[in-house]
Amino acid sequence: MKWINYADRTASGPSLYFCLLGRVAIAVAASMFFATKQTSAQPVPGSLDVQWGEGASDCTANPQRPLQVHVYEPQTFILRQSPCANFEANFLYLLIGSDKALLIDTGAVADPTKMPLAKMILELLPNKESKKLPLLIAHTHSHLDHRAGDPQFASLPSVEVVPADLEAVRAFFGFTGWPNGIAQVDLGGRTIDLIPTPGHHPTHVVFYDNRTGILFSGDFLMPGRLLIDDADAYHKSALRVVEFLKTRPLTHILGGHLELNRAGQAYPFGSHYHPNEHPLELTREDLTALPAAFESFNGFYARHPNYILTNPIHNLVALGIIAGALLILILWVVRYLFRRFRRHARADSRLVPEREQTS
Ligand SMILES: [Zn+2]
Ligand SMILES: [Zn+2]
Repeated sequence: MKWINYADRTASGPSLYFCLLGRVAIAVAASMFFATKQTSAQPVPGSLDVQWGEGASDCTANPQRPLQVHVYEPQTFILRQSPCANFEANFLYLLIGSDKALLIDTGAVADPTKMPLAKMILELLPNKESKKLPLLIAHTHSHLDHRAGDPQFASLPSVEVVPADLEAVRAFFGFTGWPNGIAQVDLGGRTIDLIPTPGHHPTHVVFYDNRTGILFSGDFLMPGRLLIDDADAYHKSALRVVEFLKTRPLTHILGGHLELNRAGQAYPFGSHYHPNEHPLELTREDLTALPAAFESFNGFYARHPNYILTNPIHNLVALGIIAGALLILILWVVRYLFRRFRRHARADSRLVPEREQTS
């Protein structure tokens, strides 16, 4: 388990303790794998008592381990890519059933020497009949930072990667009335519901796990910038998810990134350093506030305590218009001053011969 980084930066002292704890937790996970079955409608409890690696202001001087693994409960793993490995610092989720496992997203880094994702996932996967449990890999959406690790799994046996384009997603999961309707994946004693949530990206889906009651929300809802591509579709997606969860337990909402600190301020775009991060988990209240946030959205920017709505294209266009207006103003002032200067110069040149005649 040398790849596991339990929030350690030096791999010594307390980090060793965390590493040992991690080994024990994974061993327990493996031993309990076929024994733990959800026996009631109550979600299986888990722990989010974890300090995520914060990256570094100078990643070269302070090298970070690329991948952190947190055992939420024996069959649910949360993986976080270090902000030093890629500023997107994606969260990935591995859910284990009794017949197969599901990996949600493969993150922002393709190179296995920099991000040994497939190696780690294989270490975490339990055995069944002396073989690794089959693995299905699906994506919250097809932005590259959620699927760059796909090629690491390409040649592995018993691994199926769902292509990230919309047609493939619809066909694979059997969506017939996209973006309406729900699809399901049965992992064996563990059902995952997929809800279409276009708006950030046309292919976006969120995953509801009926074992833990967690909604894995990707870039649809997270403590960070909710980048809006289609506000109307996003609003409808928010209403759809609220409606879906009305009658279901919801323990946590876990997204694809963490971009706010505890004071609610966003880290600068592209930052490899995330000191004092906001908790990853959001609540039902954050979700139910989302449709209302869209109803009052001005098309550019809106602030909620735990997330920011922003339309990068609209903001770019507005910035372009302001920059264009400023440029026109500067050109007009320069032209005005130039003409004024020329008028004065002409007047002066007429005055000089008159002065010469009178002197
Ligand atoms: Zn995205
Ligand atoms: Zn993303």
